[in-house]
Amino acid sequence: MSHVFPRHCHATLPTAVAGDGCYLIDTQGKRYFDASGGAAVSCLGHSDETIKNAIKDQVDQLAFAHTGFFTSEPAEALADLLIANAPEGIDRVYFVSGGSEAVEAAIKLARQYFLEVGQTERRHLIARRQSYHGNTLGALAAGGNAWRRAQFDPLLIGVSHIAPCYEYAEREEGESLADYGQRAADELEAEILRLGPETVMGFIAEPVVGATLGAVPAVEGYFARIREICDRYGVLLILDEVMCGMGRTGHLFACEGEGVRPDIVTIAKGLGAGYQPVGAMLCSGAIYDAIAKGTGFFQHGHTYIGHPVATAAGLAVVRQMLERDLPARVRALAPLMERALRDRLGQHEHLGDIRGRGLFWGVELVADRGTKAPFDPSRKLAGRIKTEAMARGLICYPMPGTRDGRNGDHVLLAPPFIMEDDEAALIADRLGDAIEAALA
Ligand code: PMP
Repeated sequence: MSHVFPRHCHATLPTAVAGDGCYLIDTQGKRYFDASGGAAVSCLGHSDETIKNAIKDQVDQLAFAHTGFFTSEPAEALADLLIANAPEGIDRVYFVSGGSEAVEAAIKLARQYFLEVGQTERRHLIARRQSYHGNTLGALAAGGNAWRRAQFDPLLIGVSHIAPCYEYAEREEGESLADYGQRAADELEAEILRLGPETVMGFIAEPVVGATLGAVPAVEGYFARIREICDRYGVLLILDEVMCGMGRTGHLFACEGEGVRPDIVTIAKGLGAGYQPVGAMLCSGAIYDAIAKGTGFFQHGHTYIGHPVATAAGLAVVRQMLERDLPARVRALAPLMERALRDRLGQHEHLGDIRGRGLFWGVELVADRGTKAPFDPSRKLAGRIKTEAMARGLICYPMPGTRDGRNGDHVLLAPPFIMEDDEAALIADRLGDAIEAALA
């Protein structure tokens, strides 16, 4: 009997024993093409020698030094590299161990910033429905997935939620893309005015929505309007790039591709590429300066922030990303991925939508193409697709709808940037077979 506390108590999972490029291998020697990088983590595959060597060298050199006493060379070098390539105005990096920690740090930093500048009433956060920002209590409070929050609601901080920018389900017939984008963004202004602008500290959103909706980019113009509204009311714009950042959408920071400048941005997953647990919260110089000139320290911290081995891995990842210009490779692979998915699934009677950016794609399935009605959750379609895909040697990331009836089951794809051109068809074929078997 296993003593590991698993995600699903009754699931019997294969044991992964090795990684080889885009593949994971189990104890039976079965090879699985990792088309979701777990959950958008393994962007450089599973056996990158450069990253492995960077980790080994760092362990030999210095495994740990507490950030209360020391900084370290890899943390400094990674921060420099990130800032040199970060969106305009972003000037400081706060390292953490994962995505939820990055979001927690972002929320607390926003609150402390307003205390430092004397706007003490600003404590309210606005987020979007059908969103995911992590599983710790603050990050879960920010998330707008009603099902994930339900049993913990009494423990969560108050956050209000507006609609996501989710064109497939929310754009009305006859409404132009531009009008829809403005309408969706204007919900933020209405919510700020409802709460009172002097009480709102921040708005958090993913530039491209990952886990809850399945690689949904906003329509053009949406984020420009969001930025305008945040500026008008002095609200901080927090962009959560834990899943869509670090090259995934074809840009090191996804917000560059979406044409929006954040005040705070969170990254994780692809930063360590699965080789180490590492994330970061980056903020503007203005926010940092307010704290430096005020109390002088951010009232936050974890034992493993800025861990030398984790940041050494992150440094090796980001260096490769830049030296090999992997975001450009991702942009080149994007149309191949889209074509392969449309060829294999475009005509399927239950295909609702195919959307994405770079190597970040979502396939949404619906019971009825005309009405876009999702499948009944009792059908557990996402879980069945996962099982059928694994049987066919494919790792993808199927997720059920958020169970509010607005969005259906979808499959998220986030393959490694090192995949070959013809592997787009392999992914689409295995996924198509798995979906058909799950629906049968
Ligand atoms: N934010 C986003 C956008 C995410 O996709 C995730 C993880 N799926 C998180 C935060 C939380 O990250 P972690 O699981 O590393 O805590």
